[in-house]
Amino acid sequence: MKREYKSILAVIFVIAITHTACNDVQRADLILTNGKIVTVDQNFTIGQAVAVSGDKILAVGTDKKIMRYAGDDTRIIDLMGKTVIPGIIESHLHPETASLSELDEEIPDVHKIDELLGWIKSQTGIKAKGEWIIFPKFFSTRLIELRQPTLAELDKIAPFHPVFLDGSYGGMINTAAMRQSGITAKTDHPGILRDKKTGLPTGLIRASAFNLLKRPARKELTYQDVNDALQSMFKRYNRYGITSIFSGSGSSETVDRYREMHENNKLTVRILQNIGLQTTRDNITKEGVLEKLKTLPFVTGDGDEWVRIGPLKIILDGGILTGTAFMREPWGDKAREIFGIEDPAYKGVLNYTREEVAAIVKAANELNWSFTAHSTGGGGVDLLLDVYQEVNLIKPIKERRFSIIHGNFFTEEAIVKMKELGVYANVQPAWFYKDADAMEYILGKERIKTFHPNRSMIDAGVIINGGSDHMVKWDANTSINPYNPFLGMWTMITRTTERGSVILPSEAITREEALKIYTINNAFASFEESIKGSIEPGKLADMVVLTDDILTCPADRIKNIESVMTFVGGNIVYSSP
Ligand SMILES: [Zn+2]
Repeated sequence: MKREYKSILAVIFVIAITHTACNDVQRADLILTNGKIVTVDQNFTIGQAVAVSGDKILAVGTDKKIMRYAGDDTRIIDLMGKTVIPGIIESHLHPETASLSELDEEIPDVHKIDELLGWIKSQTGIKAKGEWIIFPKFFSTRLIELRQPTLAELDKIAPFHPVFLDGSYGGMINTAAMRQSGITAKTDHPGILRDKKTGLPTGLIRASAFNLLKRPARKELTYQDVNDALQSMFKRYNRYGITSIFSGSGSSETVDRYREMHENNKLTVRILQNIGLQTTRDNITKEGVLEKLKTLPFVTGDGDEWVRIGPLKIILDGGILTGTAFMREPWGDKAREIFGIEDPAYKGVLNYTREEVAAIVKAANELNWSFTAHSTGGGGVDLLLDVYQEVNLIKPIKERRFSIIHGNFFTEEAIVKMKELGVYANVQPAWFYKDADAMEYILGKERIKTFHPNRSMIDAGVIINGGSDHMVKWDANTSINPYNPFLGMWTMITRTTERGSVILPSEAITREEALKIYTINNAFASFEESIKGSIEPGKLADMVVLTDDILTCPADRIKNIESVMTFVGGNIVYSSP
């Protein structure tokens, strides 16, 4: 008798639950169930299931709790134990150049001089004499030999084809390229490097001499061609779980293009667009910059969850792979040999004086812009932080979430300043993966200690943002730079390079920290932490189902993780075949 009473109670209880569910619980459009939901919320809560309504997350919790949101029209996906993380937010890439980079032909993935020369030779067979052979974003420091091919090597395989190895901040040309561009032994230009003994051009040139090259103009692309290429690039990003990107540098036109693409439902990633300061180099004053900024129809934070305005950006120095990053100390003997530098006191290239940077940052801060700068060397980092500190005294910058893009070399003092000023470190582990070995060789064991000190930065309370600086090529793992975010996380977790060395393992970070760097930290950087970056009720339903559990799989597998399914605003933008 007693027993029967109990079961009747149970029945009544079940009916009560169902009844509440029918009337009061909002119905989900989508439920992911039977998985491991890594929410990346404040407590790093792990759930089993997640419910989505429209483009937002409705609830996260146990399967039982979440299934209460199921209705007749709910799409239910059984995760079969798979792990789900918040959509990856990529803090620095250049989709505008990357998307067009292999439209005409594939860019090779070379690791040795031989491979490079082999490729050039094959090009001479395909192209007519006089036609240019151009290798975009070529960095000699990424070759095992750590050197450019010599002029003689290039001339031997390509006597009749102008060759240009374009390293952005410096490059290498052959004799045919000089001939075609009218560059002779007499051409007087500081960007043309010369042999110490003979005084003849070595083929090495700085970016300042790039405009001497009579390169053919790129084939004209229509507005639609560019949109199509971007759309394909975004799809490739989706495949690696990327749901939001910070686009490295752009203008009002870039913003308009992305807005239009969104209106036509062509965007599958959300975009934060950095705005490059368009200014002539002469006479940079605060007033001049203010005037310039006032002509812009927006300021940081404007826009919506699809296309938003990021910080104002300048390019402060060169790059580490061409010896043009502005360092704290002279580059040193090995660098001089590799990069053909003569001056022993040479520290690198600065594009602005300290006064000019101060004028720009003051103007930006006055008009409530957030600010960032490409700064790849430690000298640049220090200069920038010095300016940030000065500007902070006029009007606090902490709320504005200023940042440093790349940085690479952070001393203890720099880290303390960043914490004080609330400056974010927008770093690219791909540069560590690809280049830490070369940097260690060039700079030595002591100076490399400040290279990507992620552990020290996190311990000091500095917020790190993770991105790739993807510029050319389309493949996630062989592009320059590889945009596979799991490769980036793996690099930060293991401190392992492409060549297999483990450099400064004491600066390794945890898997949880790496995940935050690519999700919630980047949401903070774009002032969007309340709408994305974690899987929490009310936030945008940007999520990735992973092939492996990033928190528990063998460490070496992390770099091979891919998306099984990527959701942006609850819509599937990628699903593996
Ligand atoms: Zn960049």
